[in-house]
Amino acid sequence: MPSEFEIIRRYFDRPAASALLGVGDDAALVAARPGMQLAVSTDLLLEGRHFRAGTDPRKLGHKALAVNLSDMAAMGATPRWATLAIALPAADEAWLAAFADGLFALAARYGTELVGGDTTRGALAICITILGEVPAGAALLRSGARVGDDIWVSGELGGAALALVHPEIAAAAARLDQPEPRVALGERLRGVASAAIDVSDGFAQDLGHILERSACGARVDYGRLPRAAAFAGLADATLERDCVLGGGDDYELLFTAPPSARDAIEAIARDLGLALTGVGSVVPGDAMLDLRDAAGRTIAPARGFDHFAP
Ligand code: ADP
Ligand code: MG
Repeated sequence: MPSEFEIIRRYFDRPAASALLGVGDDAALVAARPGMQLAVSTDLLLEGRHFRAGTDPRKLGHKALAVNLSDMAAMGATPRWATLAIALPAADEAWLAAFADGLFALAARYGTELVGGDTTRGALAICITILGEVPAGAALLRSGARVGDDIWVSGELGGAALALVHPEIAAAAARLDQPEPRVALGERLRGVASAAIDVSDGFAQDLGHILERSACGARVDYGRLPRAAAFAGLADATLERDCVLGGGDDYELLFTAPPSARDAIEAIARDLGLALTGVGSVVPGDAMLDLRDAAGRTIAPARGFDHFAP
């Protein structure tokens, strides 16, 4: 069985060209470029809570980094460096090789370098901290939504949650296992969006975070919410609603922007080949979501995911 240091050297020590110092010392050294601020975010994934025991390690490597890249996207930041703290029940080399493959393949696509971490024995847990760069003052905050802004959603909602009920639907399973972080969209939304968040806990809940931080309400048309194509064939309106409104793990961007930005947003959608759908608007009042069906009737949104919910 390889030692802790052999594991690090074999699987996690890769050249980090844009860091001043990568894996191997007591700390990594990185420098933001002039005029840039560092955006820093951490996500912890625990076996049995965030992913099932026996999850394909390649997909896990992808997902562990993808959720962090998604946080950079939601800030309008460009991901640059990451650290990986990992607890492993055993030094299973096939598992480690596949996990590292999944992680580094995604990291390479987004120009993100692994610059350090920590490796220990224990129940499987993966914690990645990511650092990104964003021009000073240009980060997309949750607090910037203003009354009259449009509310937009990228891609489609509900696919990842659908996979929990219907794992046999391949497109849904791919959304759950291998989410595509909307990094390019986040970068393009700098100076365009007034507020942004990534949909990790469900549309209604994540929109609620913007509303609370921005001290305003929202009016959303349920029928306009973009949803995974697979729902059309299922004819289960309740499941569809629960997944579209309350399902987590989609990692789409939910953002607000003034109506004057509509042309710019449509141009971004065309450039990126990514659907961007206007779903409602920011309204005065309490941080409440006023959700309506096609007939104008109020819909009570399903609850999003909360680790401490009773
Ligand atoms: P220390 O004892 O100073 O914490 P470690 O022995 O834990 O150092 O780690 C040695 C080096 O390997 C450090 O540069 C650390 O950042 C890096 N490292 C440890 N585990 C990982 C990992 N899972 N992924 C990437 N780098 C790692
Ligand atoms: Mg250490």
